[in-house]
Amino acid sequence: MPRGVVPRQPAKTGRHEGTRGQPKQRVVIKKRQVLAHARRDGVSAAAKVGARLKGYNPVASERIHEILQRLDQLYPDVTCALQHKSAWELLVATILSAQSTDVNVNRVTPELFRKYPTVEDFAALRPEQLEPDVRSTGFFRNKSKSVVGAAQKIVADFGGQVPCEMTQLLTLPGVARKTANVVLGTWFKKNEGLVVDTHVHRIARRLELTRNDDPKTIEQDLMKIIPREKWTLFAHQIIWHGRKLCIARRPKCVECSLENLCHAADKTWTTVETHKNAK
Ligand code: SF4
Repeated sequence: MPRGVVPRQPAKTGRHEGTRGQPKQRVVIKKRQVLAHARRDGVSAAAKVGARLKGYNPVASERIHEILQRLDQLYPDVTCALQHKSAWELLVATILSAQSTDVNVNRVTPELFRKYPTVEDFAALRPEQLEPDVRSTGFFRNKSKSVVGAAQKIVADFGGQVPCEMTQLLTLPGVARKTANVVLGTWFKKNEGLVVDTHVHRIARRLELTRNDDPKTIEQDLMKIIPREKWTLFAHQIIWHGRKLCIARRPKCVECSLENLCHAADKTWTTVETHKNAK
């Protein structure tokens, strides 16, 4: 982390003298300083204040760079939490993870892949036969249909190998961009897109990296500002951040190293002003 940007640490007691009042006070002091400089330089004060204080750009490259650096320090080696030994296992685990947790899926998949070791084994099933094995992950009827349908298509059209192209992956039943991005990024190491799950959605909004709510549009927004070689890692880092600190209810802002870069409206502790749309 560059010198001078270490976030302030709060008191352990949780009582942070003046933290609520500080942002306003800071802006006022900053405004006075800008006005003083403007007077000294003989430049229109209003123009200067406007340029400095209204010029906040949440997707400015310096800010993005700083966020990425801090994420690298926080989560240097993160990867997908779904256990897998092949592209097929990762594909199945990702389909099962919809509306479920990775922990839950990891409880189910070892036994599932012991029982049906190959994609051909899955292709030979009727969806109803798979249902009891995946029941605990929720939405088990749809998931069974998707897994068996994907296996049959992979055997029929792709020689039993999970395809490594986005367009081909999207032809598989139950596979949309999010699942395809997980498989492409994690297994094939291809940065074709960015996984947007509930954590990425929430944190991208809190950090003002997007103003959208539709996952496809959020993905497009993030692809414009995050360097391509970082797409897969960034999504994993944000997912871990969402699990550990930036949780949906009561994020642990007091422990977060992104704190002084974050203006989220629902922060639980802050040293900077908050923005009402940042949520
Ligand atoms: S400061 Fe709080 S809301 Fe912002 S990223 Fe960190 S945990 Fe999330």
